[in-house]
Amino acid sequence: MSETAVVIGVLALQGDVREHLAAVRAAGAEAVPVKTREELAQVDGLIIPGGESTTVGKLLDRFGLMEPVRAFPAEDKPIFGTCTGMILLAKEIEGSVQPRIGVMDVTVRRNAFGRQVDSFEQDLPVEGIPDPPVRAVFIRAPYIVSADPRVEVLATVHGHPVLVREGHLLAAAFHPELTDDTRVHLLFIEMVREAKRGRTAE
Ligand code: GLN
Repeated sequence: MSETAVVIGVLALQGDVREHLAAVRAAGAEAVPVKTREELAQVDGLIIPGGESTTVGKLLDRFGLMEPVRAFPAEDKPIFGTCTGMILLAKEIEGSVQPRIGVMDVTVRRNAFGRQVDSFEQDLPVEGIPDPPVRAVFIRAPYIVSADPRVEVLATVHGHPVLVREGHLLAAAFHPELTDDTRVHLLFIEMVREAKRGRTAE
């Protein structure tokens, strides 16, 4: 049986777009940059890369992408937010009123690991990914301070959720695109394949 072919878009307003495109291709799916509504309409899933969440939030508004991205998961098209992407997906951002997509039932804390800890790497056991653990790179990373019970916690650092899933949404506080390990991208690609099979079976 052949795999469901999917096209994954990488939001290309700011951040490590190229690394995500390469990671998706290495994991066996097609990847394209997305900057417009028209390009968004062509893809089956969307990755929101790391960067600076206040900047990306403003750019989403300016490019007319905020509403279509917000509506995307309701069309059974998954979104994967990494770092800044996790912040923008959250309904609540502690102490901030910055523009956001705001579709995931979580509260995030920006720069949560402290100012001193600019970045760090660690081996992260992930629910649903067999050993060895995922090498996770954290850069001025957020973490989740509270989540609705519907949100599945797939990985934690010191008890704080850093990889979570809620329906068609996946969010990582770390940067899976910065290592050669494509298993987290593959997890997302599988969500996109499953959602597409659901759409086309209707
Ligand atoms: N601290 C950044 C923010 O608030 C996120 C950092 C990152 O994406 N690597 O957007």
